[in-house]
Amino acid sequence: MCVFCKIIDGTIPCYKVYEDEDFIAFLDISQATVGHTLLVPKMHAENVFCLPSHLQEKMGVTLVKMANQLKKTLHVSNLNILNNNGEAAGQTVPHFHIHLIPRYPDDDLTIRFKPHLTTPESSIELQKKILSN
Ligand code: AMP
Ligand code: ZN
Repeated sequence: MCVFCKIIDGTIPCYKVYEDEDFIAFLDISQATVGHTLLVPKMHAENVFCLPSHLQEKMGVTLVKMANQLKKTLHVSNLNILNNNGEAAGQTVPHFHIHLIPRYPDDDLTIRFKPHLTTPESSIELQKKILSN
């Protein structure tokens, strides 16, 4: 059983901040910033590609609800929402989860997108490929 399934069934403790019939949210043990929270479906699904269809819309609604709850209670208006799918994407716990990371001035967290050179031709080719599927 994965570590988040153990949290969900109560075998491992957590600092729970939200729960409904399908989702649970708890403080991330690493607290990248104060209030760093994980939103997790109770059903074990490894990543976004495995998330059952009946949870997909509700996940979006619950995510926005959680974001507003953190905004209100922590008085933050800056927030990163992140989700890693697969090892190469940085996923370390194989149970789908979304990070909500409140941001503060000088909070010492860096999330950096390094730009890569593209050409209009390669972008059009890529666009066509994605649109066709
Ligand atoms: P990811 O790297 O996207 O898979 O994120 C996994 C996250 O789970 C990390 O930020 C960990 O700090 C967090 N984590 C792992 N074990 C626990 C735990 N027992 N309670 C709370 N958070 C945890
Ligand atoms: Zn699990």
